Amino acid sequence: MSFDTLGLSADLLRAVREQGYTIPTPIQQNAIPLILSGKDVMAGAQTGTGKTAGFTLPMLQRLSENRSEGSRRPVRALVLTPTRELAAQVADSVETYGRHLPLRSAVIFGGVKINPQIQALRRGVDILIATPGRLLDHASQGTLDLSQIEVFVLDEADRMLDMGFIHDIRKVLALLPKNGERQNLLFSATFSKEIKQLADRLLNAPELIEVARRNTAAELIKQVVHPVDKKRKREMLSHMIGSRNWQQVLVFTRTKHGANRLAQQLEKDGLRAAAIHGNKSQGARTRALSGFKSGDVRVLVATDIAARGLDIDQLPHVVNYELPNVPEDYVHRIGRTGRAGKEGEAISLVCVDEHKLLADIERLLKRKIPRETIEGYKPDPTIKAEPIQRGGKTQGQSQSRQKPRGGAKNRASNSKSVQSKGHAKKRSTSESRNGTDSNPPRKHVHRTSGNKPQVNTQRRRSGSVRGRERPALLGNYPED
Ligand code: AMP
Repeated sequence: MSFDTLGLSADLLRAVREQGYTIPTPIQQNAIPLILSGKDVMAGAQTGTGKTAGFTLPMLQRLSENRSEGSRRPVRALVLTPTRELAAQVADSVETYGRHLPLRSAVIFGGVKINPQIQALRRGVDILIATPGRLLDHASQGTLDLSQIEVFVLDEADRMLDMGFIHDIRKVLALLPKNGERQNLLFSATFSKEIKQLADRLLNAPELIEVARRNTAAELIKQVVHPVDKKRKREMLSHMIGSRNWQQVLVFTRTKHGANRLAQQLEKDGLRAAAIHGNKSQGARTRALSGFKSGDVRVLVATDIAARGLDIDQLPHVVNYELPNVPEDYVHRIGRTGRAGKEGEAISLVCVDEHKLLADIERLLKRKIPRETIEGYKPDPTIKAEPIQRGGKTQGQSQSRQKPRGGAKNRASNSKSVQSKGHAKKRSTSESRNGTDSNPPRKHVHRTSGNKPQVNTQRRRSGSVRGRERPALLGNYPED
């Protein structure tokens, strides 16, 4: 199947061609025609499946078809994301795919000055990509009007809930036109009970699309465990990067402190390295990421939470310098490689303390990861396992979160606007909201072989997302 058959306009097809895409991914094949037809969609797809283009392309088309020549330019589409990085990446996609269209977009998230964002909003924006906290700040200051939204996208909804954004989402929903007067698109890697409840509130007779994660651990990513003593991990990592001539490697540590320390040590070893984690300013995070993408930074050391939403094309190597405390995070981590169908390599440096964590991961994967001892780094069998420190607690102690993520301090920001000349028109629709019970989602389940979608059989278990409990889905992030 080619992009030409999906009903996209010539301007969008041109932008897609310029990106070098020839075949739509399964989520794109399924979502684009449905979204173009104006349907609400609930899609089970995670980062790496091409979901961003899956909703951005049809959204841009609908907005450009439906323009008016009025002088006011209200925000007509809102994409809500859980993290700054994801917001910035979605905004890049909107800009890239919409480059031949007269639409304007802006991204807003916390941690950066609000005034440039206010100015961008004043100039007029068709498409807004935002994280919830700063969005609500703007709304409460009266610098943003969401009453003309025609398309609302909730991206990575499961992470939103996991990060404690449910109340913010509710507040945002209250600012939108009433349901039935807007199109709603919900993307989530998992469909937990909480996601379904949210979908019931949000979506109007949705079409349900489920596609397999393309970069499943087993299929595309070569995984290996290198047993090594804890004290020799840094030395071994430097040795591997140098001797294997890796030019771009993402390394995961469990804690922010550990990420800083490792980046500094690697620098001392002569490797250009940067750390990215929640304590870094937005400027430092953006600099580290762009340095990594451009090749100036060879090693990016990240904590789990900071790595959310990172989309680095063709990232060839991911190293688990330390295994995550929660097995699901291993899958998220290694998903940073093998993106969009490309092969990748995930390497775990495992010391004796981490054998239980490794066993948990292998139980989740339902397979053993091959062990390869690197010459000269054979672990000392006399070293005994020690408990792993985790945010002031040791392994086995309470795993409950200290506070929900996504509080004011964690909220995202930044502003970027895209030029355009078009004017907006409020889309009115005669559809009225149907009760969700009487109007359950129509399920589109697609079987896949090769590039075709298939039923996602990899649902992970969900947990409580309310209050201070953090579900096992994404693990515990002491990060300190
Ligand atoms: P996403 O799941 O939206 O984060 O996209 C993952 C990656 O796939 C991004 O780097 C996109 O640029 C890339 N991508 C999206 N659609 C396609 C396509 N049809 N063919 C090849 N790569 C794609």
